[in-house]
Amino acid sequence: MSKNKTELKKAVEIVQEITSKRKYHAYVLTGAGVSKASGIPTFRGEDGFWEVYDFDEVGTKAAWMRDPAKIWQLLHEGANIVLDAKPNPAHTAIAKLEERGIIQHTITQNIDSLHQKAGSKKVLELHGNLSRIVCIKCNKQYSLDDLPEELPPKCDCGGILRPDVVLFDETLPEKEIRHAFSVARKADLAIIVGTSAEVIPAASLPYLSKKSRAKIIIFNTEITDHKQIADVYIHGKCEKWLPIFTEEIIKEM
Ligand code: NAD
Repeated sequence: MSKNKTELKKAVEIVQEITSKRKYHAYVLTGAGVSKASGIPTFRGEDGFWEVYDFDEVGTKAAWMRDPAKIWQLLHEGANIVLDAKPNPAHTAIAKLEERGIIQHTITQNIDSLHQKAGSKKVLELHGNLSRIVCIKCNKQYSLDDLPEELPPKCDCGGILRPDVVLFDETLPEKEIRHAFSVARKADLAIIVGTSAEVIPAASLPYLSKKSRAKIIIFNTEITDHKQIADVYIHGKCEKWLPIFTEEIIKEM
């Protein structure tokens, strides 16, 4: 039996044991890797976003304040990759895990809405959402379809509009992060998919769950720092292995 098949068997047994309890808590945490098969580049790695764009020029609030028109220009060029993307089999498998009551929450660092498009209902977005637009001055929300043509687009109040995503020099939305910490703290099971374990605080959630004695199952094409706390590490593409994992669990229910 291949290493991943052995690990998969172990993962299914862990999930069966946990879900056979009367009450349990389980969540999935996702990063950019879950959306790679949908055509959205990850941040790090060979063909990652930061290989193409300069972090300091587009990734910070300071950059936005410096030259918002330039960033809107880049967004016009690149945002459609995210906005037009379709969920892949990994997103569908995660939605199925929620639908069948195996997990209760999906916590994501992604800004692409693909979990919601796949049917996940309880999604906590830690880093915002690219399809929501807000005014930096009065917080009024705009739909992408109603954006004024001018660059940078401006609110009725004169403030500059920006996508509602968390930049690298900003803090995370308090309500979401608090909720995510509470989910992670009480979890019996955490399934971690396609995240590099490098972006804090999201990367700390699995450690918190482990401290509370949760079982940790990881799907990643690379070995990350989360390996040290993993009960099972499925080293491969999540769009291949998550659907197999989900079907195996459902079959045994
Ligand atoms: P990351 O780019 O740092 O890491 C991606 C991880 O996914 C890596 O560990 C890589 O090995 C793994 N991976 C790549 N392809 C995979 C596959 N097919 N199956 C399983 N694993 C795979 O991303 P991150 O950890 O999410 O953190 C960086 C930040 O990137 C987050 O803040 C997130 O908001 C942002 N981001 C989001 C999107 C998106 O919305 N789709 C895209 C790029 C970056």
